[in-house]
Amino acid sequence: MPSATRLVLVLLFGSIDLDAKVKVDSDFPGGSVVVDELDEKARTLRFRPKNYKNKGWACWWSFKVYGLKPGEVWKLGLQGSGFAVPKRASVSSDGKTWKHSAPGKRSGKLHVYEIEVPAETTWFAWGPAFVLADAKRLVENTAKAKVGAKAYVLCKSQEGHEVPALRWEPKGNNNQPALWIQARQHAWEAGSSWVCQGLVEWLASNDQAAVKLRQTARIHIVPIMDVDNVERGAGGKNQIPHDHNRDWSDQPRYPEVAAAQDCIKRLNKEGTFALFLDLHNPGPGDGKPFFFGSPDSHLNPKRKENQKRFHEHCLKTLGKHPLGLSEKVRVTGAGYHPLWRRISKNWVAENTTAHSVNLTLETTWNSPHSTLQGYLNYGATLGQSIASYLESAP
Ligand SMILES: [Zn+2]
Repeated sequence: MPSATRLVLVLLFGSIDLDAKVKVDSDFPGGSVVVDELDEKARTLRFRPKNYKNKGWACWWSFKVYGLKPGEVWKLGLQGSGFAVPKRASVSSDGKTWKHSAPGKRSGKLHVYEIEVPAETTWFAWGPAFVLADAKRLVENTAKAKVGAKAYVLCKSQEGHEVPALRWEPKGNNNQPALWIQARQHAWEAGSSWVCQGLVEWLASNDQAAVKLRQTARIHIVPIMDVDNVERGAGGKNQIPHDHNRDWSDQPRYPEVAAAQDCIKRLNKEGTFALFLDLHNPGPGDGKPFFFGSPDSHLNPKRKENQKRFHEHCLKTLGKHPLGLSEKVRVTGAGYHPLWRRISKNWVAENTTAHSVNLTLETTWNSPHSTLQGYLNYGATLGQSIASYLESAP
């Protein structure tokens, strides 16, 4: 700007700075950040996830930065540890497609990511963001695709959000196996919703196994359970008094859990309840995805046999994915948590037919393969595993 013009404007508007300023914004669904220091000249930003009181672990962060110059390298210093600190940050120039940064480096209390910014407005997040609008888009697009799916509202959340869900209930003799698949009982675990999306897209695809599965099974899918904390940008895990995955009792406090329980009970009453899958992301050091299963008290011989068979099918399919799958099923029993009976799969095991398989799938989030595309592929492969398991039923 010519200096004369600048002078006139400064005289008119006082101390307004006419240069573009770098600005951080988290005022959008799922946004979460506290900026400790922003130095535009040094191109450094120090930040941490926002702590929402009583709303669970402060481990999720997601924000956008305006006024950047594409190609410049910024140092983003994240203050935090453990679950809050992915080796690689996720970066996006449109808030929709995400790429990993190079691995960050530890520097004192900070984990520092060096990132060449791709656009004037760039999004940075713990992982690829997936919020209520994404869940809505997924179920609506799938319903519109005319592949037999119907979008429905599972319930209204405590804070008044409609919780999107999707179902296939093909007509039949009521002996069609029923499946319930849900993600995001823990709001920070965004990767699990992308796995869910990959599964839904596979189910809606032309793959012969997918077509057969959706025409012969009753399938319910909920991409986000704890929508309130997802929209808030809170972690959700261990929220007060307890989180969604400690709420599966006879008196659930969360409408999503109550509605899921009602629907699972109906599916079980009407026919064969075959499979319950709860999609999560595990700890930062879990390099390979794995299943959590119920303790022996909840595994009758038939269920044990089916669980083993399902796991074997998953090892043959998911085991070949770059993320892989652990040979070991971990157990969430009395030694895992005092409220273990109120963990979803344990409740489902107690309340559905003896044949049902009920598992939590923990998909690794802290590896180079834990990208948006990696999660989608993992979800699609999970679909193949489910189809081959049901095909193999004796
Ligand atoms: Zn979880």
